[in-house]
Amino acid sequence: MPIRFVLVAPRHPGNIGATARAMSTMGFHELWLVAPASFPHPEATALAAGAEAVLRSARLVHSLKEAVADCGLVYATSARARGEYYWPASSPREAAPRLLAAGAEGEAALVFGPERTGLTNEDLAYCSGVVRIPSDPAYESLNLAQAVQVLAYELRCAGEAPVPPPRRAVALAPVAELEKLTAHLGEVLTEVDFTDRAGGPNLLNRLARIFGRAELDQHEVNVLRGLLAAVQARRRRAGSDA
Ligand code: SAH
Repeated sequence: MPIRFVLVAPRHPGNIGATARAMSTMGFHELWLVAPASFPHPEATALAAGAEAVLRSARLVHSLKEAVADCGLVYATSARARGEYYWPASSPREAAPRLLAAGAEGEAALVFGPERTGLTNEDLAYCSGVVRIPSDPAYESLNLAQAVQVLAYELRCAGEAPVPPPRRAVALAPVAELEKLTAHLGEVLTEVDFTDRAGGPNLLNRLARIFGRAELDQHEVNVLRGLLAAVQARRRRAGSDA
């Protein structure tokens, strides 16, 4: 069950250790740490309580982008139901079979935010959807490692379900390919002088969210890239003021 667990900027080393333990108990071993405040740390080792192998093999990177570049399906976790329009929230139970199906065909990741602030909207632009653990609206935020435990448990239960998850004909395009598509669209928008009249958050960031939410496979990305290349070629043939 190769699901990648990604912790973005965890502050407390104890939470990293407790995350390793939560993952190990449910059979998950792939931990990526994005700019942890301090790691390795004796407190992380202490709270891993026997799951040090996960800590030893943890990958350290500087940005979320690096952690998920090769992933097809990327789900962010958030206590707050925010940006419902861009990121429809699923429960862990709904998300688990989808993650396992994607993980069986390529790389799939679950992303957790920093203890105090959670994930930013920029972080969410790399994600296909948001997973929210149902909780009391008066106090909805779980401890980081406990949130990891709930998700790992649901993945374990889904993995033991008798019905195999459906397979896609073509694998999901990895995040790095979606980024190239967004950049390519950005070039074309500049060439045709398209500006964002609505204002609000960065236009390319908003387009990236649309692509993330669409769960595009590699063929679909290729078609869109081809379409953009055709627009550029046509403009070149017609002279740059066309
Ligand atoms: N104030 C922050 C809380 C961060 S808690 C916020 O509003 O997001 C640290 C991390 O634990 C979160 O970024 C998320 O990854 C996870 N988490 C905590 N409670 C959660 C919940 N109810 N559902 C899903 N993830 C949760």
